Amino acid sequence: MDLNYSAEDEAFRDQVRAFLDAELPPDLQAKVRAHLRLTKDDYVRWHRIAARQGWAAPAWPTEYGGPGWNATQRHIWEDECARAGTPRILPFGVNMVAPVIMAFGSAEQKAYYLPRILSCADWWCQGYSEPGSGSDLASLKTTAVREGEHYIVNGQKTWTTLGQYADMIFCLVRTDATVRKQEGISFLLIDMHTPGITVRPIIMLDEEHEVNEVFFDNVKVPVQNLVGKENKGWTYAKYLLGHERTGIAAVGVSKRELAALKKLAMRQLKHGKPLLEDPLFAAKVANLEIELMALEVTVLRTIAQEDQAPGPQASLLKVRGSEIQQMLTELMLEAAGPAALPFDPAYLDGEAPHAAGGDDAAAPLAGYYFNTRKTTIYGGSNEIQKNIITQMILGL
Ligand SMILES: Cc1cc2nc3c(=O)[nH]c(=O)nc-3n(C[C@H](O)[C@H](O)[C@H](O)COP(=O)(O)OP(=O)(O)OC[C@H]3O[C@@H](n4cnc5c(N)ncnc54)[C@H](O)[C@@H]3O)c2cc1C
Repeated sequence: MDLNYSAEDEAFRDQVRAFLDAELPPDLQAKVRAHLRLTKDDYVRWHRIAARQGWAAPAWPTEYGGPGWNATQRHIWEDECARAGTPRILPFGVNMVAPVIMAFGSAEQKAYYLPRILSCADWWCQGYSEPGSGSDLASLKTTAVREGEHYIVNGQKTWTTLGQYADMIFCLVRTDATVRKQEGISFLLIDMHTPGITVRPIIMLDEEHEVNEVFFDNVKVPVQNLVGKENKGWTYAKYLLGHERTGIAAVGVSKRELAALKKLAMRQLKHGKPLLEDPLFAAKVANLEIELMALEVTVLRTIAQEDQAPGPQASLLKVRGSEIQQMLTELMLEAAGPAALPFDPAYLDGEAPHAAGGDDAAAPLAGYYFNTRKTTIYGGSNEIQKNIITQMILGL
């Protein structure tokens, strides 16, 4: 297995860099690099710039408007976007519901939804988790009862990321309560503007409104919005989760944050010398860098087997990637020291440009640290991923 980039790969990287240099708006880049709050408009703007170039959905086949890249090219694109500091192209439409629609949806669903996902005409969110049904997802209770040409949906979803902006939600719903719990679940596409849907904010540790509760009270959903067959939704749900976890490794973002950490630790002084030259701190940074390089090689090894669908190795990438993201924010906080303490949420809107004390870059770090606690929970908690690794990779 050759893990080095070929001359063609390097030429492709140059092409991506030239595009990003020309097309990434400097205001968006500055926001991302400074950990400022991104608005709905920021996400949509960047998605549409990438879409105009034909690059918003790197993993899609060309027949649906994908660029036809191989896995290495997709990796280079993600790596370069992270390095440059683009907003994320949110995964809910492009990387989660779209592969399910492509694999299991009807011809009408493909023709209607896929172009709209590509152009970001609709903002999608994910309605899997419920109170009491996170890790044990198959125990979900939201019901969909067929009445003529509609399903009537009742129940509650929770932790719905950025659902406050959403036009559409893909939901797992119970359509048969009399069979084994995995066998009575269906996969529904629901218009968020339908009467009977209420979205309530959940405020996170960093005081941000990133997740929501979504309530369904006699919501009428046309039967055409069922994906695949009734009661087969669990199969589609599992297919989607493999796609979700591969993306969570976030190697490119961690590389950008590692560079930011080093810059911060060069500016911070300890006993009159840059913190980065302190042997203990330097050893922690070096350890983290080695972990990150090892993760990148593991991602490249996974890419080398690109013909296979994402398997249990996705769990391995999720666990290590999320741990590294957390370790990075811990070291950033350590480097910033007390300057990170007086956290002012107005900074995130660019309204409080200076930290209350110390380095400006320290101002958002406490919030960033708290926010990153989520990475070992979402996308399937790391404890559950470790169960998968022990059973399916280690065979224990
Ligand atoms: C910021 C954030 C955003 C999210 N966004 C979305 C979203 O957009 N859409 C969506 O549908 N969901 C979303 N989620 C939900 C997420 O997928 C769940 O939080 C996750 O699956 C864990 O479920 P839970 O919170 O119910 O925890 P629980 O399942 O109650 O687990 C609690 C603890 O027990 C451990 N545990 C449980 N069972 C076992 C076991 N068998 N073996 C060992 N340990 C176990 C868990 O690992 C965890 O540490 C989000 C969550 C967060 C935090």
